[in-house]
Amino acid sequence: MKYFSTRGGPQELSFEETVLTGLAPNGGLYIPTTIPKLPQNWQSAWQNYSFVDLSVAVLSLYISREEISESELRNLVVKSYASFRHPEVTPLKKLGDKKYVLELWHGPTWAFKDVALQLLGNLFEFFLQRRNEQNSGANEKLTVVGATSGDTGSAAIYGLRNKANISIFILHPKGRVSPIQEAQMTTVTDANVHNLAVKGTFDDCQDIVKALFADSEFNAKHHLGAVNSINWARILAQTVYYFLAYFSLRRAVGEDVQVQFVVPTGNFGDILAGYYAKQMGLPMAGKLGVATNANDILARFWKTGRYEKADSSPQYDTPSMQPAAGSSDGKQATQDASGVKETLSPAMDILVSSNFERLLWYLAYENVPADDNDRRGKAGEIVAGWMSQMKSNGKVEVPTAVLEIARRDFCAERVGDEEILTTIQSHFLGNPSYVVDPHTAVGLCAAKRLSQYNSLSVAQIILSTAHPAKFSEAVSTALKDTPNFNFESEVMPREFDGLLQKERRVVDVESADVELVKSIIEAKV
Ligand SMILES: *Cc1c(COP(=O)(O)O)cnc(C)c1O
Repeated sequence: MKYFSTRGGPQELSFEETVLTGLAPNGGLYIPTTIPKLPQNWQSAWQNYSFVDLSVAVLSLYISREEISESELRNLVVKSYASFRHPEVTPLKKLGDKKYVLELWHGPTWAFKDVALQLLGNLFEFFLQRRNEQNSGANEKLTVVGATSGDTGSAAIYGLRNKANISIFILHPKGRVSPIQEAQMTTVTDANVHNLAVKGTFDDCQDIVKALFADSEFNAKHHLGAVNSINWARILAQTVYYFLAYFSLRRAVGEDVQVQFVVPTGNFGDILAGYYAKQMGLPMAGKLGVATNANDILARFWKTGRYEKADSSPQYDTPSMQPAAGSSDGKQATQDASGVKETLSPAMDILVSSNFERLLWYLAYENVPADDNDRRGKAGEIVAGWMSQMKSNGKVEVPTAVLEIARRDFCAERVGDEEILTTIQSHFLGNPSYVVDPHTAVGLCAAKRLSQYNSLSVAQIILSTAHPAKFSEAVSTALKDTPNFNFESEVMPREFDGLLQKERRVVDVESADVELVKSIIEAKV
């Protein structure tokens, strides 16, 4: 299996090169040359597989044996998921007759990004060690640099801590990440982990990281690596739990199981993994549900066919865009200079969704006539054109035929802050009583609205992306007037006891200055 760029070009990379490169030189994202089909007997052969077995089975379809042997792959997967607290890794929990949540937050940082980043860290280490062994005298190292507003940083640090030949530098805006997230990052005291608390905003941190990657001399000298969600290995690792969830549900309800997945979405990584699972052959009776918060570029795309940063359509121009009955979404979320709205579900506060480009490629490809002998090349040109329009105008409109292809596999809903709060309340008061984090609440609220389009036999699985303790502000606000609710005793896991008091290691960066950050990195690696 090889990988190529969504923006075209003849270059084809191995899995190893794809994972170590991240972004293609032409700005595109890497996708596999074909989406592999499931083996004929997968339903019977895989039905009782553990998370680890399923990981090996699914990943093997995307990674050539010559690159990673099956036993090497199994070792990497076993090591990656040993850090999860739940024996099923990502258990399915029943909340209602046709409603289930897939809990993705049983990993070390209590959010779903652990599923991918635990594996990515082990892959990086495996590849570097092998390169250094094969090429005696070589001493290849990787310096991972990233900016975070909370979740990605902690999951990346836990994925890469204590890994040979890898240093990791995570920049966060000082005082602007939640206390739990800040503690999770800065209490990791392994020598290869460096937290930089930058006096500035998240955007300042991101600008510094971009400037470092753009500095070819610095990049070449330190061999910079990225862990953001465009890395192919992250998408791949996430396809596994769609299969696990499907089999769990099938065991619960029987062989004629009909399922719809609904996914709280920011950068379109988690849900894209579901699209790959579907294209491989995992049966999905309901369309994949894209659930966005007030940063709704994706929900708007599925309504209009326009992918645009600023909303140019009249507000709520179609019935299903209206706030659900009984809730008011009148509260205007505050918006920063770039146009990103600050919501109660901060890990989904984005302006554009970086992984959406991968879906655009498949849409473009399907819309090129099948008898075109350069179908792949044409799709790459079309995507490159769309992305360049996006870059210069902040928007692009796809042809109606392309939108129709997109609507065949997906539906989308936007959920405002008020609805997040009412959804948290209704699930706490529900039977079973269940406390959800604000991101999962976006998924649950969207799922409720989407269920009206489903036939009665379809069960919904909502991906639960974080433990509620990580987002105490939204959860406490939602439940503060509820009798008998106590955040400390009902929500906080005992594993968090003492976290805020633990020893920390963090470097203060007094101004958002690239040169200052460079000198800190040079001094530490
Ligand atoms: C990152 C994140 C998301 C969004 O995932 P994408 O892959 O970017 O769509 C949702 N919820 C939580 C808690 C996250 O950390």
